Amino acid sequence: MKELEIIREKVGKHNAALVAVSKTKPIAAIKELYDQGQRIFGENRVPEMIEKCDNLPDDIEWHMIGHLQRKKVKHIIPFVSMIHAVDSVRLIEEINKRAAEQERVVNVLLQFHIAKEESKFGLSMSEAKEILDANDFAPFQNINIAGVMGMATFTDDQDQVRSEFKSLKSIFDQIKSDYFPNQDSFKEISMGMSGDYEIALEEGSTMIRIGSLLFGARD
Ligand SMILES: *Cc1c(COP(=O)(O)O)cnc(C)c1O
Repeated sequence: MKELEIIREKVGKHNAALVAVSKTKPIAAIKELYDQGQRIFGENRVPEMIEKCDNLPDDIEWHMIGHLQRKKVKHIIPFVSMIHAVDSVRLIEEINKRAAEQERVVNVLLQFHIAKEESKFGLSMSEAKEILDANDFAPFQNINIAGVMGMATFTDDQDQVRSEFKSLKSIFDQIKSDYFPNQDSFKEISMGMSGDYEIALEEGSTMIRIGSLLFGARD
């Protein structure tokens, strides 16, 4: 697939990772990318992710990129490799508890609201500090806080998008220096989708999440 090669080259130049967002797409489509070497796939619904995981090779890294309800956490803990959209203290506590039951350490990213658009999801800096202070005081043993995640406004205004990505990068830098100054484990900035990933890479993204460019438009 030509698009995959183009994206890979850009991602490689920036030392970033590519999450292929396969939500709503069939198992056969995932297998096709898998056969071309892609190993990280992102889904946003729990039952769909479980079904795909059960029917595809074990060396796939499954990333939960969408909003996650607390009551569904336990179903993905056995196999999920990263949870991108952690947006509350209660959710992170639930992930930690379920991961402990499974004797796993799960990678999570703190989601920040950086877009102009209204959204219920994403932490404010003060909510993030609540999580990070709690983690400093008594570290979540079964969670690795690996970085931050955000989504830019859906707009053609590239300056707007760029400034939102810059703001996520500066949130990352601030948290890094306040809470993880000497820890390499806090290193990810998950930002950039099909329409804006090149800007995201220029602004410091370490992980882009691409759906429609790889799989075609969703219904
Ligand atoms: C669907 C989705 C993507 C991928 O979107 P595309 O525009 O199809 O690349 C990325 N991130 C999140 C959180 C999503 O829900």
